[in-house]
Amino acid sequence: MKFKNTLEYARELDAEDKLSSYRDQFIFPQHEGENVIYFTGNSLGLQPKSAKKYVDEIMTDWANLAVEGHFYAEKPWWDYHERFSAKLAKVVGAKPAEVTVMNTLTVNLHLLMVSFYRPKGKRYKIICEEKAFPSDQYMISSQVRFHGYDPNEAIVEIKRREGENNFRTEDILAKIKEVGEQCALVLIGGVNYYTGQVLAMETITRAGHEIGAFVGWDLAHAAGNIELNLSEWNVDFAAWCSYKYMNSGPGNASGCFINEKYHNQKDIPRFEGWWGHSKERRFLMEPEFQPENGADAWQISNAPVLALAPYLASLEMFEEVGMPALIEKRNKIVAYLEFVLHEIDKEVDSTFEIITPANQEERGTQLSVFLHGEGRELFNYLMKNGVITDWREPNVIRLAPAPFYCSFEDMFHFGQILKKGILEKSK
Ligand SMILES: *Cc1c(COP(=O)(O)O)cnc(C)c1O
Repeated sequence: MKFKNTLEYARELDAEDKLSSYRDQFIFPQHEGENVIYFTGNSLGLQPKSAKKYVDEIMTDWANLAVEGHFYAEKPWWDYHERFSAKLAKVVGAKPAEVTVMNTLTVNLHLLMVSFYRPKGKRYKIICEEKAFPSDQYMISSQVRFHGYDPNEAIVEIKRREGENNFRTEDILAKIKEVGEQCALVLIGGVNYYTGQVLAMETITRAGHEIGAFVGWDLAHAAGNIELNLSEWNVDFAAWCSYKYMNSGPGNASGCFINEKYHNQKDIPRFEGWWGHSKERRFLMEPEFQPENGADAWQISNAPVLALAPYLASLEMFEEVGMPALIEKRNKIVAYLEFVLHEIDKEVDSTFEIITPANQEERGTQLSVFLHGEGRELFNYLMKNGVITDWREPNVIRLAPAPFYCSFEDMFHFGQILKKGILEKSK
């Protein structure tokens, strides 16, 4: 595609954009009376205007009905979470019974490891990526120690090659083969939070199964961002947070996927609670646990409906638009942002480098840009001028133009602000 770095051209792209009307369904922070240029939808998505209504509905039902809201609210609370499975299943490519919404991400990964990290004999190692998101590192390390192993010995990290920014699939596969029958679990981030690289999840899952390990994915940066086919890829389990690309609100609930082949395994180890109990029998208060069908059996507590309300509001928009349309716009707007960055790079002395794969198949919404020299100063300049991005040590800003609400015009203006910032700095 031949792009142009002009305001007029960016506006043409917006005029052609079938999703452009969704921008108006989100609330933007303001900078000098205008919407900010928001690049951190990969960290906390913007608030859908409909979210407040969904929360208010519960507040009103609570005021009017109190405990009776569990059964007689507009959307009864006792099965509120069931509204999520079918919608979320479409986002992650699963069967509705394989998906549930509960707790938060790191908590869910811990709970899923109760079922899928079962070290025994010489099979006790976990393969993960180097420099994983800190919470994942702490989680994996504490799980390994909980089972009585030494993390230095039991955790095997996949590494990038010297001087390279991204993982190579061949290296991941080689590492899986090397660890072989010592490997109990492969657990990796499907989209790397730092570089935005999308891993070859299907191929890696197959390789993990070939050596007899379970394979799980942390989809924090993948859900609502890239195409996922968890059922078809035969993934064992996965979990994701909803406040990043899924726009559900700060700290909000996580979704989980548990492959249907485990649903009827009566002896699968699992931490249980009354919300995982058969729903027909839940209120009989029986002493013996009878699992609900599907992933819902992994639920423990009754659902935090006030938190789920904005998530549901957002999920309805995902259902309306569908992942294919979001991905189509994503590819175009990310390509345009990449083009604008290269144009600015040509106009000023090169001071930055995109470390995200250039190949569209290996990336989603995020471009990570390595700033050479006085990067922090440039970052501060952007923030002061209405560009919301984030800083990751040692010198990276992450730019994620969420297809729901970012415009091509935003990308053009961002380029102009970036250029000014670089020129000002070099004065
Ligand atoms: C954002 C993110 C988390 C956050 O975990 P919470 O339990 O939701 O606080 C964990 N892992 C990865 C890879 C992330 O990107």
